[in-house]
Amino acid sequence: MAKVVIDRDKCKGCFLCVSFCPKGIIKKSARLNKKGLNFVEVDPKGSCAGCLQCAVICPDCCIEIYK
Ligand code: SF4
Ligand code: SF4
Repeated sequence: MAKVVIDRDKCKGCFLCVSFCPKGIIKKSARLNKKGLNFVEVDPKGSCAGCLQCAVICPDCCIEIYK
């Protein structure tokens, strides 16, 4: 299982990563970041496949995957 690290304060809440994750483990947070935007977070119960799709699609390079 890969580890997903999301920089919540860089996130602009476009939710592209949510749409692209084949495992459906990236979710919109109910909380706001420093920009006042809903960031995304990873479901702690989810299992990341390490496919990198979220990291590649994020326009602001907010996501890092560690295998
Ligand atoms: S690496 Fe793939 S499975 Fe893991 S969170 Fe990103 S899109 Fe989802
Ligand atoms: S693609 Fe990047 S900026 Fe957009 S919601 Fe996901 S982490 Fe945030």
